[in-house]
Amino acid sequence: MTTAIDQTEMSTILDVLTSDSCAGRELGSVGVDIAANFIATKFQQYGIQKIGDNNSYFQHVGFSWVNWENTSFRANDTEFKLLWDYVAVPTENNDLEINAKEIVFCGYGIDDPNYNDYENTSVKGKVILIYNGEPTKTDGTSWITNSQFQSDWSTNFNKKIEAAKKHEVALILVIEEKFKQLVDLKRSQLISPTFLLDSEEYLTSNTPNVAYMSSSTSSHVIGNALKKVIQARNRIKKKGRAHSFSFNTKLEISQKKNIKAISGKNIMAYFEGTDKKEEIVIVSAHYDHIGKKNEDIFNGADDNGSGTTAVIQIAKALQVARDKGIKPRRTILCLLVTGEEKGLLGSNYYVNNPRLDLNKTTVDINIDMVGRIDKKYSEDSAYLYVIGSDRLSADLHRINEEVNSKYSQLILDYVYNAENDPNRYYYRSDHYNFAEKRIPAIFFFNGTHEDYHRITDDKIKINLPILEKRTKHIFLLTWELANIPKRIIVDK
Ligand SMILES: [Zn+2]
Repeated sequence: MTTAIDQTEMSTILDVLTSDSCAGRELGSVGVDIAANFIATKFQQYGIQKIGDNNSYFQHVGFSWVNWENTSFRANDTEFKLLWDYVAVPTENNDLEINAKEIVFCGYGIDDPNYNDYENTSVKGKVILIYNGEPTKTDGTSWITNSQFQSDWSTNFNKKIEAAKKHEVALILVIEEKFKQLVDLKRSQLISPTFLLDSEEYLTSNTPNVAYMSSSTSSHVIGNALKKVIQARNRIKKKGRAHSFSFNTKLEISQKKNIKAISGKNIMAYFEGTDKKEEIVIVSAHYDHIGKKNEDIFNGADDNGSGTTAVIQIAKALQVARDKGIKPRRTILCLLVTGEEKGLLGSNYYVNNPRLDLNKTTVDINIDMVGRIDKKYSEDSAYLYVIGSDRLSADLHRINEEVNSKYSQLILDYVYNAENDPNRYYYRSDHYNFAEKRIPAIFFFNGTHEDYHRITDDKIKINLPILEKRTKHIFLLTWELANIPKRIIVDK
């Protein structure tokens, strides 16, 4: 059956996916739709059954694109600049107009049985000013935990946002002592728009707005009350008791978001099973990439033209078998997802809007970058990094090993599967959305290389014979998982 998987055809598929007409296949672009239509045309040519919207191969995925249309932040007649002086992230904020003459200094913004900044303070509809972290004694002991350990008021900022919400605060101003680190963390979210799945809960934040300020911005905002605020903080630290108060200042804030709807597509090829057809095996890969910058096109041959081509060929081989009357016992869904590069969005959408019963989905086999050889291996090494196979199911791990030793004889490398692997690849591709739903997931990967997310990730650097070998292995694993007598067990 694997003879249908052929590097000559893979090469022509890759030519199209990596051509400049696909313009780097970025979510929301014309190019990514050209790629999607090409893939659907291939499925059509092979004669594969449709299961998508309106008798198509597509599952429509709604996205939103969110950025600031404008933000202005003035305190005591000085204008402050986003990213330089303060940080406010559009996804964590709503449109807001504030013209305040007073601010409530609210300590650390903590509402805890041991320590409560909101006690005897009225903050409803007001702007509050808080420090990040929690009060500690001079020896570093936390007043909240009574130990050297910080409480989750320090480690989970959402707790403070929830407390402010409970007290109906309009805006939280945070004195952020680690402002530089925060800017580094949030910069990309603020420079380029954020893509979100099109759901109300993502589009509007139902919590108070938050702005994080550098210490110099903070001093301007506090104005004449600076001494009083510092004294209050020192007193809190010394006594472990809240000391909130309001002070006069002049604050004008105006924030407006820009939300644009964008539509994307997941692509599905459906192969109905026989006696176990209600159970499902999914083979997935993302077909989107990062688009272009100015004149530079990121063609994404390895990432993830290779995985996309592999899935197209696996679908073809399944159809060739079907045409000869050879059908899998379980149903197989070949799923090409979009929006991976924007935060695993297409696969997230699929697991929350599954076309086939998720409870009966037995496994996700995910392919992301399988056309190259990394530094660790030499040019003719048929190896594959395997990630996640043993995280939820010992069966999955064992079956992959068995298929490999029986047929494929690839070097299976588990180095990136270590729980403490600093690259955290297990969390970084689409299979993770399935694993989060407790569906066993196995992720195949060729490792990283110097062309990763560069314009040099080109087709010419793809090792076609190795891509073919790896694809054949993944096909055989898919076939095995679709035909074994008992579905693999989740045992971890
Ligand atoms: Zn990728």
